[in-house]
Amino acid sequence: MKIRVSPVMTALKFFQQVMVSQKQDLLANYFLRQSFGLISHNNVHTTQQSSLTAAFNTKPRQKLAFSLKKESTGLFCIPELRDYSGFYLLKERVENEVESLVEEALGPRRTRKIVEVFDQLSDSLCRVADMSEFVRLAHPQEEFAKAAEDCCMSLSGLVERLNTNVDLYNTLKMALENGDIVPMDDVDKHVGKLFIFDFEQSGIHLDETKRKQFVQLNESILMLGTYFAQGCQKPAPISKNQLPENLRHCFNLHGDSVMVTGLFSDHYSDLIREAAYKIFLQHNSHQSELLDALLHARFAVAQLVGFPTFAHRSLRGTLAENPENVMNFLDTLAEMVMKKADDDYAEILKQKMRHSSHPQSYSVKPWDPPFYAALGRQERCNINNSDLSPYFSLGCCMEGLNNLFKQLFDVKLQPVEVETGEVWSYDVHKLAVVHGTEGVLGYIYCDFFERIGKPVQDCHFTIQGGRQCQDGSYQLPIVVLQLNFPIPQTSVPSLLTPGMMENLFHEFGHAMHSMLGRTKYQHVTGTRCSTDFAEVPSVLMEYFASDPRVLSTFARHYKTGEPLPMKAINNLSAAKKMFAASDLQLQVFYSILDQMYHGKLPPPGTSTTDILAEVQNKYYGIKYVPGTAWQLRFVHLVGYGARYYSYLLSRAVASRIWEKCFKDDPFSRTMGEHYRQNLLSHGGGKPPSELIKNLLGEEPTMDKLVSSLVHELEL
Ligand SMILES: [Zn+2]
Repeated sequence: MKIRVSPVMTALKFFQQVMVSQKQDLLANYFLRQSFGLISHNNVHTTQQSSLTAAFNTKPRQKLAFSLKKESTGLFCIPELRDYSGFYLLKERVENEVESLVEEALGPRRTRKIVEVFDQLSDSLCRVADMSEFVRLAHPQEEFAKAAEDCCMSLSGLVERLNTNVDLYNTLKMALENGDIVPMDDVDKHVGKLFIFDFEQSGIHLDETKRKQFVQLNESILMLGTYFAQGCQKPAPISKNQLPENLRHCFNLHGDSVMVTGLFSDHYSDLIREAAYKIFLQHNSHQSELLDALLHARFAVAQLVGFPTFAHRSLRGTLAENPENVMNFLDTLAEMVMKKADDDYAEILKQKMRHSSHPQSYSVKPWDPPFYAALGRQERCNINNSDLSPYFSLGCCMEGLNNLFKQLFDVKLQPVEVETGEVWSYDVHKLAVVHGTEGVLGYIYCDFFERIGKPVQDCHFTIQGGRQCQDGSYQLPIVVLQLNFPIPQTSVPSLLTPGMMENLFHEFGHAMHSMLGRTKYQHVTGTRCSTDFAEVPSVLMEYFASDPRVLSTFARHYKTGEPLPMKAINNLSAAKKMFAASDLQLQVFYSILDQMYHGKLPPPGTSTTDILAEVQNKYYGIKYVPGTAWQLRFVHLVGYGARYYSYLLSRAVASRIWEKCFKDDPFSRTMGEHYRQNLLSHGGGKPPSELIKNLLGEEPTMDKLVSSLVHELEL
């Protein structure tokens, strides 16, 4: 049993905290904003707004909290949640439901499949726990957030008790090994194995001594990970005297120390970037000890449950399956991208020689690419001072998505008026996803606008998973998409940068994975699948968002209705491809480092910095800088442990799908349906490699995936 409290992350989130690329994203967006000036047209169109465009482009109005006419329907239309105290009622209800389902699972009178009982049990828990987790993070009222947090805490205790219930584990294991009272099909068996895996994650199958060790190790891993992650963000101090006087003013002074808070990747001065890089990434023995201890504890826990390394354990059930396949993928990618990446560095060097005020350093350093790549994009892609954003009002982008989904899947996004008390903030929109013949497929709550105290990460949250109910009805999926766009004003709608527009498409990729899924079990609804597969539908949406044929259907000036000129659209696509090879190479380097750390333990005396230097010199085009220890800032080692490659693999799969299914015609109804039936509709109900194989009509070998990704760079 597993409560899935970690929402699916966006690509942005995935890379956001990686120090080097973080600023790069910001900078790239900055230059994109500056770069694409648009020739103004004289022909003014009258704008005919659709209801969707109107809904999302209008300034949201605060309704009266207590309508005299209507009683509150409760948060998410859950009657108990008319008031925050309802979380306690929900918790009690879950406890009762769980008790009777456990009785059914273990008792003699069970008439349905054991996996069905388990899924209903998991549904009871998840519907309250996942929803509470979201409310805890997003609700602006403290009482609600607190009550939701308490509810999460009590339910995680309940889950812990279920996960250590040996009778439940044995009943399920017996059914899987010897057959159930009702015969199981492939999906039942696959989902049954996923439940078993969740149990074994808790060490239920170990003897008493080993189980104690297991619990202790997991506690250590949790604490070490938390402390390491905190340390990744801390500013680095250096004594004032060690820094030349002319550089000090750029950093925060703290008594006799200078505090360096980040890499300053977008600073124009080579010297400042160099100083920030060397100070922020300087060796830190406490952080280094935490990392060593974390990696050792992970290795030990993996060995305890019978895996050769932590990477083997972490990769079980994923698309890649094992560390050997991951390394094969990354090695091939590294080799194929090298030449193209070298060309990028040559271009970066040219920029540096032209602009640098310190021409003595005629080589590319690790602190150079983000800054000079942005300059390169700016120069190559025809600078103009106007802005693209007026062509990407949120309403227009939503209409673009609606049009795309209509053509691909025969579904439309229909705004639904929210009931009193249904949402947590007055500016949240609700959409019904309506299919041409199947009717309503599910609901998406769009929490799109900036708000004080709202988490800044873009996210997809499952509130309720889709599942086949006992009475034959289908429990509809409900999700929340959370983004951070500027709030519409009376005369100006929410205007998105190209980067924000792409994020919107990305998140809708997750949402449609949930909406178009018709899984029998909620345990595998939509995005509930392995990390390296979950990003495939969302990354695929980024291909649609960059395609001139798709962009030209919706990029319209919010005032005049004038379409975005083709020249600007093409510039936008061209800028995206510049320096893509060196960006990719950087991600390959990070992914391999993550694999190395979670593989076999290194010989005694080898530090994580030694491994960093070796991997960087072998796989990255810019050499390691002695004295630095970038890995001590690599916060994703905690959350992704051996799965940092996931985004690259998802990207490669999406690239192959785009190439084979949608490149010729991004609006193909036939391919859209084929994609839904063979991939999206199954969520995590079948092994990911099987789904991809059925969709593409070919075995998704690593070679093919890599060549798709590399081929893109050459276009
Ligand atoms: Zn994502």
